[in-house]
Amino acid sequence: MVRRKKKFSCGHKGFGRICHKCIQANAVIEQKQKLKRDWEVSFDRDSIDLRNLPKNVVLKSRYIIQQLAKEPNYRQFRGKRLRHNRFVISIPINRSYRLLCRDRGQSLSPEAVVSHEDYNVVKPGRI
Ligand SMILES: [Zn+2]
Repeated sequence: MVRRKKKFSCGHKGFGRICHKCIQANAVIEQKQKLKRDWEVSFDRDSIDLRNLPKNVVLKSRYIIQQLAKEPNYRQFRGKRLRHNRFVISIPINRSYRLLCRDRGQSLSPEAVVSHEDYNVVKPGRI
């Protein structure tokens, strides 16, 4: 018996009882939704709020925070102490963002990731 393609209610054509094109499309959508949920949930595990930052800034911040927790050597990330507050260390994430950390003596505690504009506010008198 020759199998013939039939038209499903969704408009696709194919064999069998259900439309495999739609099943596949749904799987892709569900996978995307899962990735989006996982991404949103991942912020709950951060020690500081990294929401609303560009994805590459989030990932790089997480990496640097992780490394600093192991070894508080901020100089390897080109971090510098603020001139007007020596207990605050500013680490460049990229051209637009900085990670600010507080020097706790034996360790560094991440405080915030700030954009260049915010940064100039916390760093008066210098651009
Ligand atoms: Zn279909």
